[in-house]
Amino acid sequence: MLTESEVKALTVDIPADIQKLQSEPPVRVQPVVRCGPWKCFHCGAVFTDAKEAATHFGTIREAQAVCTHSPDEIRHMEWCLRRYRDEDTELHRQIVHTQCEHTQALMRAEESGYAKGLRDGRALASNGAQRMKPVIEHYLKRAKFLRDQSEIERCEAALNPPNEKAQARPEQPKA
Ligand SMILES: [Zn+2]
Repeated sequence: MLTESEVKALTVDIPADIQKLQSEPPVRVQPVVRCGPWKCFHCGAVFTDAKEAATHFGTIREAQAVCTHSPDEIRHMEWCLRRYRDEDTELHRQIVHTQCEHTQALMRAEESGYAKGLRDGRALASNGAQRMKPVIEHYLKRAKFLRDQSEIERCEAALNPPNEKAQARPEQPKA
C-alpha cells in the first residue's frame, strides 16, 4: 500500500508541467560541425583539409576511396569516359536509332497524308464535274439557241476536258 506522499510523487500535474516548460528558455541545438581530421582505414592516410579528404573519399555515399581503385579500374573508367565523350556508348546508339525511327515514321505519315490528300482531291474534282454536267448541258442548249459561239465553246470544253495526252505538245519536226 502506497503512502499519500508516494501517490503524490507518482501523480503527474500536467498544467504545472506545461507552465514549467513554457517558463524555461528554449533549448538551442547546435549543429555538429565535423572538421576532421579524417583517416582512411584502407591506406591509413590522414587528412586535415576537408577538400583533400573529399578528393580521397569522394562526396557521395556510393563513392569509393581513391586508394582502393586498381590501375586496371582507372584505365577502364578512362575508357568509359572517352567513349561517353565520343558519344559512342550503347545509350548513344540507342538514342540515334530511336531518332531515325521517329524521323522515318514521321516521313511515312507525311507521305501517307499527302497521298490521301491527292486521292481525296481527285475524287472531289470528279464528283464535282459529274454534278455540274446537267447544269453545263443546260447552258450549252441555251448558248446554241442564242447562237453564242464563245459560250458554246466554253460549255463544250467544260463537258469534254482535254486529257493529258491531248494537252501534250506534238513533237517538233526535225529540220
Ligand atoms: Zn585511402
